[in-house]
Amino acid sequence: MKNRLIKVELQKEIESSQAKSEFLSQMSHEIRTPMNAIIGLTQIALRAKDTPPALVGQLKEIQTSSQFLLSLVNDILDITKIENSKMKISPVPFGPRNLMEQAESMIRIQAEKKNIQMVFKCDLQHEYFVGDALRIKQVIINLLSNAVKFTDTNGKIVLSLSEVSQKGEESELLFSVKDNGIGIAKNDLELIFQSFEQVTGVNRLGQGTGLGLTISSNLVKLMGGNLSVASIVGQGSEFFFSLWLPQSESVEAPALEENETPDLSGIRVLLAEDNSLNAEIVICMLEDEGVIVDHAVDGQVVIDMFKAHPEGYYNIILMDIQMPVKSGLAAAMEIRRLNRPDAQKIPIVAMTANTFKEDKDKAMEAGMNGFIAKPFRVEELYQIINCG
Ligand code: ADP
Repeated sequence: MKNRLIKVELQKEIESSQAKSEFLSQMSHEIRTPMNAIIGLTQIALRAKDTPPALVGQLKEIQTSSQFLLSLVNDILDITKIENSKMKISPVPFGPRNLMEQAESMIRIQAEKKNIQMVFKCDLQHEYFVGDALRIKQVIINLLSNAVKFTDTNGKIVLSLSEVSQKGEESELLFSVKDNGIGIAKNDLELIFQSFEQVTGVNRLGQGTGLGLTISSNLVKLMGGNLSVASIVGQGSEFFFSLWLPQSESVEAPALEENETPDLSGIRVLLAEDNSLNAEIVICMLEDEGVIVDHAVDGQVVIDMFKAHPEGYYNIILMDIQMPVKSGLAAAMEIRRLNRPDAQKIPIVAMTANTFKEDKDKAMEAGMNGFIAKPFRVEELYQIINCG
């Protein structure tokens, strides 16, 4: 009897956690879709040559605020994924030196505003490894932005990466972010890794959710490491972790620099998107670069348009997932089954506000080759089209 009760309780618990996760996935979609419009239209307005200078300043403020809002949504989603054991690590070949340089360049503007000096030290015997580059970058960016937040004007931040030991085909990489900022009291060192904890009463910018370090330490744990901190009040803090990663031969595709656009003119894109504002944004971004875009408003129309054009006419399909009449997943599966040689070959990239791993897996199972999460930056879209 008692066992049965426990089983029923457990089942209820599982169901409620699944319901919570589904709700969050849906809510993330609902929030990300309008965010996509705000961020996309702001980028378009900022890129326009005839935008008056006074307006550029205001648009940049919108951009900063909307990026901040998006980072809050992302943090809450990450915490939920961690709590539901849904956070998965996806290892890929990557160059950690490049990754650290990218993370540093993303934070540099914030550091320059406070006149904080940033130094990057790198000591590697191998250039490429296999690891979850996106998650490592997320952790480093979080540590760097904390370091900037909690370091006074004219301070110094040292970012370092070193290959500290090797065993066969694997190496131990030590990542560290050290600042000479306000430091953390001994009693608070344990607290800061807990959700929603913010221990520094003074000198805060009033920004942040207190989730950054919880997410970071969980991510590092999932990758097999341990995020540690050494700190002295008034002298500064050092956050560091080490990871054992397999060495890799492969050379990653060179990442595009910010604002650098490949030559896309003449590329033909079939865009499936039911939300007209989102479609307008993508079309505007692509047509700006000379891309020819045909727009399908639902999952059936995209199949019909693909069929109506000769073999090889389209270079890539950008596919929204949630669409009326037929979903993007069903449309992709149907296109892959068509009896013509380009049906199997054409790159189909999912373009969706759902960013859970299950969503990505479903897209891949349906025969898609790529995934771009809304809201995306112009550069990401260009990169996808270029690689497609
Ligand atoms: P948030 O930055 O959003 O408040 P975090 O989880 O990233 O949340 O950090 C939690 C708390 O840890 C911060 O509010 C701050 O009190 C403290 N902290 C984090 N990094 C540093 C640092 N480099 N120097 C001093 N305090 C820090």
